Amino acid sequence: MNKPLILVVEDDAPVCNLITTTLKTHDYRYLVASNGADALLQASSHNPDVVFLDLGLPDLDGIEVIRQIRGWSNMPIIVISARSEDEDKIEALDAGADDYLTKPFSVEELLARLRVTVRRLTLMSSESGTENAVYINGKLKIDHAAGCAYLADEELKLTPIEYKLLCLLAKNTGKVLTHTYITQNIWGRSWDNDVASLRVFMVTLRKKLESLPDSPQYIQTHIGIGYRMVRVE
Ligand code: CA
Repeated sequence: MNKPLILVVEDDAPVCNLITTTLKTHDYRYLVASNGADALLQASSHNPDVVFLDLGLPDLDGIEVIRQIRGWSNMPIIVISARSEDEDKIEALDAGADDYLTKPFSVEELLARLRVTVRRLTLMSSESGTENAVYINGKLKIDHAAGCAYLADEELKLTPIEYKLLCLLAKNTGKVLTHTYITQNIWGRSWDNDVASLRVFMVTLRKKLESLPDSPQYIQTHIGIGYRMVRVE
């Protein structure tokens, strides 16, 4: 992949400058939009590799921008929002955003999020067209045909729900999945009880999967939001 093209959607000029300066210094190409209508226009005409999207825009709601882009494209979207707006972040992730950055953020955080997303993109394009019968990430292996998961070649004794949960996270490696998204995919609904059950299943899954369940290597917790499977080198 040559230099990724990033669309930065942000109406706050200092924040926008911070992002574009960082991108420029690190050899990314970029485009800028300061409102939702312009964002949609640029997204459709330039087909960027990644979108950084501020949720609070002067014309359209950022969530609406995500919904519209998702109508025709899977381009990765990283949402930018203030810390007090957890609900918005969750709504954005459920609408199809891939990840989020919380204001104020550091340049390092911005670059880290971007690297994760670009890596996910590269992986997606290298895997497209091939049958993903076997998933490999670090020492974890999932054999979808056999319905088994292994850690360092040793079979993990998972319950059906733990296995389903692991497959769902693996399928979306690098992407933050909300509690609602996960419970809807596992149980076909999302009640408060299901979120509580999800936590319990996550604890038991981690005990089997992670060598140090308290500092997990594979599955990250996003407090109040959800979980993400991390690509392990
Ligand atoms: Ca704003």
